[in-house]
Amino acid sequence: MRRMAIPARTKDNMKTQTKICPFCAEDIPGESKVCPRCRQWLTLRSLSHPAYQLWIMMVPIIIAIFAWGWLALNRLEKITMPRPFYTEIPDSIGIIESKMIFKQTESGSRIFILGLVTNQSQISWESTEFECRFYDTNNTLVDVAHPHSSMTVQPHEDAAFSFWVRPNRATNDYISFKLKVVTARSTQTGY
Ligand SMILES: [Zn+2]
Repeated sequence: MRRMAIPARTKDNMKTQTKICPFCAEDIPGESKVCPRCRQWLTLRSLSHPAYQLWIMMVPIIIAIFAWGWLALNRLEKITMPRPFYTEIPDSIGIIESKMIFKQTESGSRIFILGLVTNQSQISWESTEFECRFYDTNNTLVDVAHPHSSMTVQPHEDAAFSFWVRPNRATNDYISFKLKVVTARSTQTGY
């Protein structure tokens, strides 16, 4: 059978056709988008369809619920698994060895301190802050520095560090030094 043989439906013809509303089971005009009886939307084509309207309204609510849940979990983790502070586990990082090296650079003299630390704790530390005190021949404090090291020290591992200071006095005033770890930051996640 050829396609053209099917009788084309005229506009009038379509208007007279009816269908059964799936919501109220009433006989309604075939072209109805909204049921004239029960006011139910019968097509999903329109963005003003209540189903779409509901979703458009729900999206920000769903996002808010997820965001709130994430924040709540984060907070719970902070309470149940607080990030350890270095002050709670002092002396976690011990200095194994350190030495002082004098160097003359184009921009003045430098004192390099290099050495090794060991982590005696179960916690992985980073951003270690040292305190370095310098003494002269009379064992008098002549200078101090608070260098930071970006190294990460894994639990029960050693790590090498190096930093330099710009001396405020003649380098021969720097006879000895004392080095200690002031603080460090835990790499434990959760923040
Ligand atoms: Zn209806």
